[in-house]
Amino acid sequence: MKDIHVAIIGSGPYALSLAAHLRARGTSHRVFGPAMHFWRSMPKGLNLKSLGFATNICIPQPGQSFPEWCRRQGLEELEPCSMESYAAYGLEIQQRFVPDLEPEQVVMVRSAGKHRFEVTLSNGDVVHARNVVSATGLSELDHTPEVLEGLGEYVTHTAALHSYDQFAGKKVAVIGAGASAIEAAALVHEAGGQPHLLVRGSRVTFNTRAPPDRSLIKRILMPDTVLGAGMKNWLLQSLPWAFYFIPRQRRVRLAKGWLPPRAPWWIQDRFEGKINVKLRTTVVSAKTVDHQVTLGLRTEGVSDYSMCFDHVVAGTGYTLDVDRLSYLDAGLRLRVLRIGRSPDLSLRFESSLSGLYFLGPLTALNFGPVFRFVAGARFAAPTLAARLAV
Ligand SMILES: Cc1cc2nc3c(=O)[nH]c(=O)nc-3n(C[C@H](O)[C@H](O)[C@H](O)COP(=O)(O)OP(=O)(O)OC[C@H]3O[C@@H](n4cnc5c(N)ncnc54)[C@H](O)[C@@H]3O)c2cc1C
Repeated sequence: MKDIHVAIIGSGPYALSLAAHLRARGTSHRVFGPAMHFWRSMPKGLNLKSLGFATNICIPQPGQSFPEWCRRQGLEELEPCSMESYAAYGLEIQQRFVPDLEPEQVVMVRSAGKHRFEVTLSNGDVVHARNVVSATGLSELDHTPEVLEGLGEYVTHTAALHSYDQFAGKKVAVIGAGASAIEAAALVHEAGGQPHLLVRGSRVTFNTRAPPDRSLIKRILMPDTVLGAGMKNWLLQSLPWAFYFIPRQRRVRLAKGWLPPRAPWWIQDRFEGKINVKLRTTVVSAKTVDHQVTLGLRTEGVSDYSMCFDHVVAGTGYTLDVDRLSYLDAGLRLRVLRIGRSPDLSLRFESSLSGLYFLGPLTALNFGPVFRFVAGARFAAPTLAARLAV
């Protein structure tokens, strides 16, 4: 069987953007994964956190931005835009511009010699590729704190929750203070459960809505960007290659700390006054007793105590760790040099293993916080497509 030039693993905005660029250049490739699965699996009632123009699937054809699609459907095009409409937009882009996407999962990628990979699909097929692009977003990267790991079926990470109906009538501990945790607490409440949000820090913070119709001078001094208004955000959005040259320690600090955990403004009314919140509270132990979970809690200024729950929801974020990607063979992962646990990449998104590339959130320590979001595809897809062109 003839080797393929590029195998793309993934089926979200980054993979679709790259595939559309490769197709437009006539570069042969195959792209694998269930289209827009991450966005289609979101629980009902959630909106995007980013603004409409920050969430485009970046394809070479004009007139295909997310705001233009929303306008054609008569939907809100700036904020809040629903997850459902974003998934529908992505599916339409896939069907029109990446029609040859194959829905199979990639189950294993192994090295098959110099600059050659063996890619095994969930249907048992094996293909050989000269280049492999990993674009699987946050899949497999969810982080559950060690203290909760022994709870088995009584703990669920928000990444695995596609509906909250199961929590009707249940007392649920939600752990975390970021957007996912706060949204989860609101969704438990709306499903008829009793959520208790346990937060390590001293407060829960919400974003403010982008003010419409800002004056010209304000827009010049604080330009609108995919990360929100601000000159520094504009630099991060416009010059990702400049971010790449910032000394490593500083770059990692900036990429990790740029946007601290915050919930979107549109969930505030659905949260405040409805959810029990315990601030400055850490879970120190967790065990199951008689179909319930007992959490040992430590709240600043109070002696340790325990509380019982029917279930625990971990809104505890994601770890950008190459070793969590089960479809990459262990030997192959060993050859990928790291920044922290993320891959250390060239300016063209190539890892230290020649022919293996990464796109999406795993590239944020190289190119900046914009790459934690869909917005990074605007730079990544054309750059990598040019690199892969033959
Ligand atoms: C709750 C939540 C809300 C978010 N909201 C926003 C937002 O509003 N705006 C924003 O810009 N970012 C948002 N993000 C961040 C967002 O997840 C990333 O920016 C986004 O995933 C990047 O797109 P992607 O193409 O890299 O990944 P995804 O869109 O996650 O796509 C990855 C795809 O790869 C597929 N896949 C996984 N493993 C395999 C495999 N082995 N073989 C084949 N296919 C595979 C998956 O099924 C999925 O379809 C949010 C994240 C979370 C957790």
